[in-house]
Amino acid sequence: MPDDLSSHDLPSQELADETALHHQRWMRRALELAEAAGAAGDVPVGAVVVGPGDRAIAEVGNRREQDQDPTAHAEVLALREAARQLGNWHLNDCTLYVTLEPCPMCAGAIVLSRLGLLVYGTHDPKSGAVRSVLNLPDGPASNHRLRVVTGILAEPCRQQLQQWFQQRRQAQRRSPRTMTPTELS
Ligand SMILES: [Zn+2]
Repeated sequence: MPDDLSSHDLPSQELADETALHHQRWMRRALELAEAAGAAGDVPVGAVVVGPGDRAIAEVGNRREQDQDPTAHAEVLALREAARQLGNWHLNDCTLYVTLEPCPMCAGAIVLSRLGLLVYGTHDPKSGAVRSVLNLPDGPASNHRLRVVTGILAEPCRQQLQQWFQQRRQAQRRSPRTMTPTELS
């Protein structure tokens, strides 16, 4: 394996079938968690931390709106829960699956956790801080070389976000006057 894994990201189609299927299985779980977050009024992002023995040790969705906490992104919550489960904040033996490319805060938290492997679904061209806009893990402030796999179930992850924002825009366009009595009760 080359030392500089960051320049050798493996798109899903180039992974061995077995590895790709394994990643897809966990990403499907992250998509379910994202769906639940979306239904609860949060931007649908879901995250799973898989620990030693291929066991999920944290499964969470974004809770920023639910908790009114600007830091309650799925990744941060998942890292905290995983560290609590392991009784150890070093997550070298863990893989984090997340449906969307992490933002600067989450990319920073991922680096601090010494995460073993990050697998994310779709790129975030607006605030992705792992590859798209910034590359914090490979930047000068990072002391951890993060392995990254991108593009696992990228299309379902992208569509889920797109549909959620579309639905929200439609809901916002409806004025209260057009709501039925049932909706208002
Ligand atoms: Zn974030």
